[in-house]
Amino acid sequence: MSEAASHVVILGAGHAGGTAAALLRQYGHAGPITLVGEEPIPPYQRPPLSKAWLKGEADADSLALKPLEFYAEHGIDFRPSIAGLSINRGAKSVALSDGSSIGYDVLILATGARAIALPIPGADLDGVMFLRTAADAETLKATVGPGKRLAVVGGGYIGLEVAASGRALGAEVVVLEREPRLLARVACETLSTFFKAYHEQHGVGFELGATAAAFEGADGKVSGVRLADGWVIPCDAVVVGVGAAPNDEIARDCGLETTRGVVVDLDARTSDPAIFAIGDVAHRPMPIYDRMFRMESVPNALEGAKQAASAIAGRPQPAGEVPWQWSDQYDLKLQIAGYAFDVDEVLVRGDPATAKFAVFHLRGDKVQSVEAINSPPEFMMGKQLILGRRPVDKARLADAAVSMKEVAL
Ligand code: FAD
Repeated sequence: MSEAASHVVILGAGHAGGTAAALLRQYGHAGPITLVGEEPIPPYQRPPLSKAWLKGEADADSLALKPLEFYAEHGIDFRPSIAGLSINRGAKSVALSDGSSIGYDVLILATGARAIALPIPGADLDGVMFLRTAADAETLKATVGPGKRLAVVGGGYIGLEVAASGRALGAEVVVLEREPRLLARVACETLSTFFKAYHEQHGVGFELGATAAAFEGADGKVSGVRLADGWVIPCDAVVVGVGAAPNDEIARDCGLETTRGVVVDLDARTSDPAIFAIGDVAHRPMPIYDRMFRMESVPNALEGAKQAASAIAGRPQPAGEVPWQWSDQYDLKLQIAGYAFDVDEVLVRGDPATAKFAVFHLRGDKVQSVEAINSPPEFMMGKQLILGRRPVDKARLADAAVSMKEVAL
């Protein structure tokens, strides 16, 4: 159904919301578009906040998805520093934090996710930080530098990227992880072992199986992390990187179906046909795995924006996709395609000692996912194998002397 002349209100001016606004215009949507965002700046990319930008290798302007003028030039009413507070589905309006309310024909929820806080003593001390927004990144960048001691709580991708950037800035870095290995929720053991060793070579210390019990401080400022066993790790700053939670309360409160995110269909439409949800906040179907889940990645934000904009502009649904994401640490480029659901075999192609290898996760003779370190062909062809659901010859796949093109034939 075309909703071509309707007023589209987008709540959340992040990667997904900003992209949806631009795509709607690109796809010919003629009606008004209002982009409402809690943050004071136009939509920007978050990945550099823990990587190039944090290390000082990218300027602030390079973060923006589009220059500020783009929105006015394309008839997009961008309203910064305003949060949506509640949705009245009957009246089709959203109450805003500036006291006004805005009516919509179509509403897109693109409210993203927020960093999870640790409910432990000292969490409000100065120097205990998160990394979700450009403002967070500014604070972190101003704190970390030569001779500073940085403790990173959480050995996931963002924690490890902050650790790598912290080292590049000359800080002493220690990563505390509750699980016995790094990346325990998101990557295989081979990768955990590899990343730990690589970071250690770059001077990062690790405490695995270590639960942060409190932040200690003096004069309101953090001075250490106390572990559950009583041991205190001294530090000048802490970054808490223990995951993100979807900003889905506004959807739940107005009765939309939610489950760890806002439930949507392949058009990104929620249980209310006039409301879409995209990006980190959406819990969406992934046909190649025949299941639904919530993802936190830029490609996922772009895909959701495409789905919603296509449905609103009356275009066909985008083609099938393979979810993917990446992480940059030091000179390592990790690219991950797919998810390792129901895997019964893991094959390593190449030698981790060379920092150029790939880990393939298989179910029977089909590739479910690939984690590729400095190996673009493995990532690209792996993606195609996942999408095509074609059987592979495992011996050839595991043999780095056989090109990925030949493996895929
Ligand atoms: P966001 O970009 O978070 O945008 C949501 C926006 O909505 C925010 O501006 C928020 O303030 C606003 N908002 C929330 N509630 C309201 C409300 N009620 N009213 C108005 N506005 C509201 N992904 C990758 O694929 N690769 C990477 O290497 C990578 N690195 C990352 C590094 C960091 C430090 C972070 C934080 C994320 C990284 N990601 C990475 C994840 C990626 O950035 C997110 O998946 C992506 O930004 C999600 O887009 P989004 O629009 O759904 O959410």
